[in-house]
Amino acid sequence: MVLRVIIVGAGVIGASIAYVFSTIKNVEVIVVEKEPDVCWGVSKANTGIIHPGHEEDPRAHPLRAKLCVEGNKIWREWSSLMNIPFEERGELMIFTTLEERREALKYVEFAKLNNVPGVSLLEGQEVLMLERGVAPSVLGAVYAKTAGIISPFEATITLIENSVANGAKLLVNTEVKRIIIENGEVRGVETNRGIIDGDVVVNAAGLYSDKLAHTAGVELDFKIRPRRGQYIVFERDVEPKPRVILHTTPTPLTKGVYVVTTVHGNLLIGPTAEDLDYDEKENTATTETGLEQLIKEASKIYRIPPRSKVIRFFSGLRPEPPDGNWLIKAYDDPWGLISVAGIRSPGLTAAPAIAYYVKEIVEEVFDLKFEGKEEIKVIKSMERMAEKSYKEIDKLIRQNPDYGEVVCYCNVVSKAEVLEALRRTLEIGAVPTIDGVKFRTTAGFGRCQGSKCRINVAQIISEVTGKPLHAVMWRRSPIGIGDVKVLLRQEI
Ligand SMILES: Cc1cc2nc3c(=O)[nH]c(=O)nc-3n(C[C@H](O)[C@H](O)[C@H](O)COP(=O)(O)OP(=O)(O)OC[C@H]3O[C@@H](n4cnc5c(N)ncnc54)[C@H](O)[C@@H]3O)c2cc1C
Repeated sequence: MVLRVIIVGAGVIGASIAYVFSTIKNVEVIVVEKEPDVCWGVSKANTGIIHPGHEEDPRAHPLRAKLCVEGNKIWREWSSLMNIPFEERGELMIFTTLEERREALKYVEFAKLNNVPGVSLLEGQEVLMLERGVAPSVLGAVYAKTAGIISPFEATITLIENSVANGAKLLVNTEVKRIIIENGEVRGVETNRGIIDGDVVVNAAGLYSDKLAHTAGVELDFKIRPRRGQYIVFERDVEPKPRVILHTTPTPLTKGVYVVTTVHGNLLIGPTAEDLDYDEKENTATTETGLEQLIKEASKIYRIPPRSKVIRFFSGLRPEPPDGNWLIKAYDDPWGLISVAGIRSPGLTAAPAIAYYVKEIVEEVFDLKFEGKEEIKVIKSMERMAEKSYKEIDKLIRQNPDYGEVVCYCNVVSKAEVLEALRRTLEIGAVPTIDGVKFRTTAGFGRCQGSKCRINVAQIISEVTGKPLHAVMWRRSPIGIGDVKVLLRQEI
């Protein structure tokens, strides 16, 4: 008998669960996503930290603590298997007052309770020896060796690519309106494109997982509140940029303000922590107050470059559950329903461990015994021309002249890479968009933020898909650039 598992949501949680279930025999996986592509929700706008686990209170949130520590380990395996950009950098939780020092000591204790290796207390000069650029006035820091940094969208995309290669099906532009329950059992989901039958439904709908759970008649008091986090991105060539991940001492609301160099080499500071109203699940605005606050907080711990070097502001929304507790549960009534809801930070870190945990509770609650597939296909994440040596680039161009045609000058992305990104997008069944190319290649992430390359990318998408140029999608709507503008640009 084949078990059909419908996963609602292609964020990092849905993608991790899809990957784990796609490696099991006699399980058919269908991932349903309301957006045109994967990773357009919470998972695309975060700090990208793979947390060590010493910031999780094991008494208040035992599951979060356990899965965070496990997830930190599994990402190392998955990223080396699938070539996902990940680096272990180590992290300094910096304190600047005696009160913060007392607070920071708590995390050394949590590290022991959670079995997090490599956590120690550093005082004064020891911090400066580890990271130049740290404000000389800092008192000390908690160092955690196993902190890492990942590209969250490349991780999510690659997991979906691997799921599809192992038999999963992705349905984009498909919004689940309700989970269908009949006689105490899950029957499938009703979507904007019709009904999909299924034996098991995994609700991994991020900010909307509360509303979706309510359609199945469960967790009626469970409400997810968006907690906004704003960020500032600086150019890649700013100096100094920290090698180690830095952040201020956490508060009850957040893990503190981070100062990090992303996997793609930009300096990033953020996030803020602002509780919004329940119905503000799309409010990703940035505000002057929020951004000012970030500069002020980050400057306490690091030498922040001048504002003229800022290239972008953005914000993400944490799906904040009541009491901060993740809701991960398999129900026997209605049989076949699984909630993986309210996965706030450190959800990115814990995602692989959450996926294995979901497999475990499905076996337990639904009385099933899963067997792994004999052969599991591996798809590697896209390689970047900009990270190769001149000799390697020369070889690539000889094999394929499209590598010699640069589309994005800021991040040195070639036409060949854009074409590969589009091929991969179509292969998983997603819709090619300018955003999708950006997440897969970094074209548009650079200094000019796409003002130069956006039209080039749009033209390539138009050529590959046959869509008229004005209908190519950017930020959820057609770009609306017509032939006249293209011609004008060519004249110039
Ligand atoms: C500011 C900020 C900073 C963070 N920093 C970190 C960090 O450094 N490290 C860390 O470990 N964690 C971090 N997190 C937490 C982490 O980003 C989240 O825990 C994780 O991304 C949640 O993933 P998800 O798959 O549950 O949600 P999402 O990525 O939102 O995925 C849910 C998907 O479901 C889709 N969907 C919703 N409703 C429907 C429907 N009805 N039908 C079909 N599809 C639907 C959405 O479009 C979306 O694609 C941070 C979060 C924020 C906001």
